[in-house]
Amino acid sequence: MSELPELVCASANPDKVAEIAQLLDGVVELLPRPGEVPDVVEDADTLIGNARLKAVAIVEATGLPAVADDTGLEVAALNGAPGVYTARYAGEDCSYADNRRKMLTELDGVDDRRAAFKTVALVRWPDGREVAVEGVCEGEITRSERGAGGFGYDAIFAPVEGRGATFSEMDAATKNAISHRGRAFRALLDALNPPPA
Ligand code: IMP
Repeated sequence: MSELPELVCASANPDKVAEIAQLLDGVVELLPRPGEVPDVVEDADTLIGNARLKAVAIVEATGLPAVADDTGLEVAALNGAPGVYTARYAGEDCSYADNRRKMLTELDGVDDRRAAFKTVALVRWPDGREVAVEGVCEGEITRSERGAGGFGYDAIFAPVEGRGATFSEMDAATKNAISHRGRAFRALLDALNPPPA
């Protein structure tokens, strides 16, 4: 039997769950999101607000502590948009490819390509306690799609520490080492397990 603390994963997105499972491997027993819990309407106006909505729904359905994350892409030339609207940038029910296409179109001819991914990772317990942290990855929006791996905006985001490569051109471990989600979940583990004073 596992001795690790159990957290129910509020996300069912297989791309995200794969990364989160890798980031928490050996430290947390990540339980899958129960299929019968309906999707949460993510209508908060902040990343932490949306992460909290997702975690609370799982805590209420399971009675167990839950971990949730929410990510936004902030583009300097778009005054920080799409931010909290990153998932539905190209419209409700749009695909990842629609979002990437819209971003490249909006930035056509724009020289300032600076952008940052921000992730809030949050654990919520049934008694209402919660821990929330943020991870940031600075980079730029490329001028065309590059690479085959990853998901979402990975093919058009080149992190500052990536030596010019997009997230899609990296293996999962390399992305996790520098990504917004990697940083957020490592900060979460630090917050849950503070080192001895
Ligand atoms: P979510 O709040 O974590 O679901 O993220 C919102 C949207 O941001 C997703 O639908 C993706 O389009 C995008 N996104 C989140 N994380 C990543 C990532 O690591 N790489 C690329 N795109 C991402």
